[in-house]
Amino acid sequence: MSKYRKDFPCYEHYPNLAYLDSAASSQKVACVLEAMTKTYTERYANVHRGIYHLSDIATGDFEAARVTVGKYFNANPDQIIFVRGATEAINLVATSFTQEFLQEGDEVIISRMEHHANIVPWYRLCHEKKAKLVVIECDAKGVLDMDAYRNAFNPKTKMVALTHISNVLGTINPAKEMIAIAKSHQVPILIDGAQAAAHIPVDISDLDPDFYTASAHKMYGPTGVGFLYVKKEHLKGMSPYQSGGNMIASVSFDDITYLEGPMRFEAGTPHIAGSIGFARACEYMMDVGMSYIQSHEQALLMYLQEQIETVDGLEVFGQAPNKIGIVSFAMKGVHPHDIASILDEDEVAVRAGHHCAMPLVKSMNQPALTRISLGLNNNERDIDQCIKSLKKVREIFSA
Ligand code: PMP
Repeated sequence: MSKYRKDFPCYEHYPNLAYLDSAASSQKVACVLEAMTKTYTERYANVHRGIYHLSDIATGDFEAARVTVGKYFNANPDQIIFVRGATEAINLVATSFTQEFLQEGDEVIISRMEHHANIVPWYRLCHEKKAKLVVIECDAKGVLDMDAYRNAFNPKTKMVALTHISNVLGTINPAKEMIAIAKSHQVPILIDGAQAAAHIPVDISDLDPDFYTASAHKMYGPTGVGFLYVKKEHLKGMSPYQSGGNMIASVSFDDITYLEGPMRFEAGTPHIAGSIGFARACEYMMDVGMSYIQSHEQALLMYLQEQIETVDGLEVFGQAPNKIGIVSFAMKGVHPHDIASILDEDEVAVRAGHHCAMPLVKSMNQPALTRISLGLNNNERDIDQCIKSLKKVREIFSA
């Protein structure tokens, strides 16, 4: 039994829910909701503008949130930009950074296992610039081909964008090695940490990427907020992404100067309460401790992998030796949407579809997959409930 399950108020409303879709978005912990309510009720005003008491408090809380997020990821808060989420962060890098230097014939490296958020912005940019998208494949187990990655570099390689953890396979990629290789070729690298941030320790100072991003909503925090870490040497030279208030130093009709640092990329009123909620989620996970989170989820993953073998006719995709609690599978003769609908009748919430990773799912010759994903809130009972329901599906379709 997860001793932290009680921290998730959703179970007060759905006591029998087996929520196994944290990879899409995690359920929220009470302290995050309380922090956000407190912001809106007791400590709210717009930030960075007012001279009055409440605005001072809100600005202080907002900037303290940046410090906390920096602490969670062991990164300098002056290099943490609050964004809408990983998707916005990647678009920001593609637009404000890579677009500035990418030329016809240049190459951008991504991998087969990327989420659409880390494919589409690069595809569009390459299309616009007549540059080439170079895709690193993974093997049948879902392990990235590191030799192919090493060999993919040439003088035309100008950018690398790779996921830390696959949202379909659960594979933990060797981020430190991937970054070191890109660095040895002097090619900037972005790491998409959307699936990593709540499940493994992420030490940005140790990894030393050029860019790193994650979304709060997969970290027991609110939707609509995430962060982009930017290496100092890039932060200064990057042009604004969106423009308007909050990001300027001075404006006239003849000349505009922009702020330096993260605020240059935070045009308009930010998600104030969301950022504070995000920081609270980081604090919550630091209190629980990443070693507990990892051992809890790894124990559940082993149990799930054992139990899923007892269901007939399943093919599991993603058998990397180093992976988080994500298990994607196909059931012979049954569409994943039917599986998910039947599981829903038994209060089991799983995801079915292409998981925003169509190139990966198609490469497995599957129209779609069913995915079970685990988090701090889960326990063995959730898995038993899911397996029982999967056996029911098998029976219905075998009849
Ligand atoms: N990358 C990965 C690996 C993801 O799993 C997701 C979300 N499923 C994203 C990027 C995009 O995150 P968001 O929708 O929060 O912007």
